[in-house]
Amino acid sequence: MTIPPISATGSQELVDPFGRHVSYLRVSVTDRCDFRCVYCMSENMTFLPKKDVLSLEELDRLCSAFVAKGVRKLRITGGEPLVRRNIMSLFRALGRHLETGMLDELTLTTNGSQLPKYAKELYDSGVRRINVSIDTLDADRFQSITRWGSLDKVMAGLEAAEKAGLQIKINAVALKGVNEHEIPSMIQWAHGRGYDLTLIETMPLGEIEEDRTDQYLSLSQVRAGLEENWTLNEIPHKTGGPARYVNIEETGGRLGFITPLSHNFCESCNRVRVTCTGTLYMCLGQDDAADLCTPLRASEGDNLLSQAIDEAIGRKPKGHDFIIDRDSRSPAVGRHMSVTGG
Ligand code: SAM
Ligand code: SF4
Repeated sequence: MTIPPISATGSQELVDPFGRHVSYLRVSVTDRCDFRCVYCMSENMTFLPKKDVLSLEELDRLCSAFVAKGVRKLRITGGEPLVRRNIMSLFRALGRHLETGMLDELTLTTNGSQLPKYAKELYDSGVRRINVSIDTLDADRFQSITRWGSLDKVMAGLEAAEKAGLQIKINAVALKGVNEHEIPSMIQWAHGRGYDLTLIETMPLGEIEEDRTDQYLSLSQVRAGLEENWTLNEIPHKTGGPARYVNIEETGGRLGFITPLSHNFCESCNRVRVTCTGTLYMCLGQDDAADLCTPLRASEGDNLLSQAIDEAIGRKPKGHDFIIDRDSRSPAVGRHMSVTGG
């Protein structure tokens, strides 16, 4: 058996049974959201009772335990991370790991609605790049996709983020018959403003009202359509995740494709996800999980927590089991994306 390397703090680094280093943690800080995107949530969601949700201090301890074990990148997500009360205190606390050099990047995925309020504070905490999810540039369609969202507010959020000096990547879920025809104009818009854009295939996570096979749009089909008019050059921009990137010669911008249903990225997977209740998911597409809340709350020291993390990483599966087809209409994974944050 090979012994995992030692991190800068003297803890063992996280290496799974397939030799993959876990260096990227995504943390969902709330399951709540001010939007109700049709592919993500049902309109009447039952959210977690407050007592089950880790406090911001507990989230800081949890993230810091991973940082001590060699995690170099933290992504804060949700639900909508910026609707959690006093969330800036967590960003400020985690920012200390950037200053010490233990962390390379602190970032977040947001729907953008609260950016007018928080963009500057995010920058001041050390955040430099953010992902903002926008599936359409049509105000009416935006409202029908997000149910409760307003495109104007999100656009104001983008302005505030730019003004604060944050680099922006747009995430758009590709939805058959909904925003399919708008994809080229969204690419032109994003690249014209200096934003990267990443297209995401819908994933079968959690019960929703709609039929997912109706929403599913294959990105290889989208890509073939784009190639009829544009020159897409592959770029070796590897994230360890399910995204593949191209440069578009005509727009001069970068376009990513996230195809979570394909397996071609699992061998380089470097990430795990933790929910706001302290449940660690070793793979987005599998149900196996580890409870980190109990060891976290059992003592003030981090020994039990650290052991529980090591044990969990020792069970990280080789790959996922997603399928979307008409015979199995129930989701491949029962929890909603708003639980693990994508
Ligand atoms: N509320 C934030 C936002 O929308 O960016 C962060 C959390 S959200 C769950 C993270 C990302 O997951 C968003 O880009 C969203 O579009 C995407 N997403 C949600 N449900 C999805 C699904 N079933 N399939 C694919 N992507 C999904
Ligand atoms: Fe909220 Fe993000 Fe889910 Fe939309 S995708 S409902 S913004 S958590």
